[in-house]
Amino acid sequence: MSKKTIDDVSLRGKKVLIRCDFNVPLDENLNITDDRRITASLPTIRKILSDNSSLILCSHLGRPKGEAQQKFSLIPVAKRLEKLLGKSVKMAPDCIGTDVLNLKKELKGGEMLLLENLRFHAGEEKNEPSFARELARDVNIFVNDAFGTAHRAHASTEGVTHYIDTCVAGYLIEKELRYLGEAINQPARPMIAILGGAKISGKIDVVKNLFEKVDSLLIGGGMVFTFLKAQGLEIGDSLFEPDRLVMAHALLKEAAERKISFELPSDVIIADAFANEANKKTVNVKAIQPGWMGLDIGPSTVNSFREKILNARTIIWNGPMGAFEMPSFSEGTNAIAHALATATKKGAVSVVGGGDSAAAISAFGLDEQITHISTGGGASLEFLEGKVLPGIAALDDK
Ligand code: AMP
Repeated sequence: MSKKTIDDVSLRGKKVLIRCDFNVPLDENLNITDDRRITASLPTIRKILSDNSSLILCSHLGRPKGEAQQKFSLIPVAKRLEKLLGKSVKMAPDCIGTDVLNLKKELKGGEMLLLENLRFHAGEEKNEPSFARELARDVNIFVNDAFGTAHRAHASTEGVTHYIDTCVAGYLIEKELRYLGEAINQPARPMIAILGGAKISGKIDVVKNLFEKVDSLLIGGGMVFTFLKAQGLEIGDSLFEPDRLVMAHALLKEAAERKISFELPSDVIIADAFANEANKKTVNVKAIQPGWMGLDIGPSTVNSFREKILNARTIIWNGPMGAFEMPSFSEGTNAIAHALATATKKGAVSVVGGGDSAAAISAFGLDEQITHISTGGGASLEFLEGKVLPGIAALDDK
């Protein structure tokens, strides 16, 4: 990796500000329902503490839109961190201001302070220099370990780096860049990418960038139907983005001209309503009827995709194959997730890009059977698009 990490600098006795992704889901009683984002940050936290540094932790939680609101407080995170680390975590009343500065100053080696939600201040998302400067006060080293927000130039991801001399990546970001970077730039071949999800619009740049890299591109999910429409097929009431039709047409043409293996489903599961209990049937993509909608890939497509997956040595997956939240339409996504797990067991590198595909992998209990599941949906997509992530670019070069 071209960026410095916490292993490249001396942390001993320093005051370290670490940007984590503690944006965990909470229930109505403000209990954390899934603490994986917290546990994922523990290796970096433990390493910094072991060097007798004092640790100032910061994160956002939810979308408080620049206003302090109890329901978005990081207090439950402080409590969970204390439990996981078996060490006391001081909770700051805010993330900037005189009281917080005093708490930072008083912090001793091996002690931890969690700042309150960064997004209680509008300056965070606006990347206001005055806010970033306050965050950076009394800090010697900045560590970014929040991959999920690395694609945003916010005060705590980019702004602070202008006011702190030493800015490095934590282990989580290092791991993300290693797996995503190697999968994209030095893949073992054949390399395939499977793209799904609702819309083409969010993934068009990924398709374009992957054209340059992959041996095969397999397409599932709602985005299939705009491509089928571009081929002149009837798609009934399936998801359709009229404003992407021209683009879909151009991509199909480019794939054909450049002889890229661009595989659309041959069959789909159609339903007469967007509901788990809807009537459904399996049809060839050329036989979708008006009034019906495609909600999953069909069994022939699953077989064909599975074969490609089992023969691949690098597999990137982003986006479900159908409306998988409804059990009636989860089979395609389930089968692809299991094929990925089997391919991984056989020695392939499998990388799943955050969001819904990561949720699907978890729902099928396959987390441990995938090489790398990205912690950042949007960030991993932008990475796959070939974009520079501002939160990474701002860190010190090796
Ligand atoms: P995205 O955020 O673009 O990755 O889209 C994920 C969402 O796409 C999930 O909530 C799926 O239920 C939905 N989805 C996938 N395939 C279809 C489909 N054929 N029709 C409608 N929604 C779909």
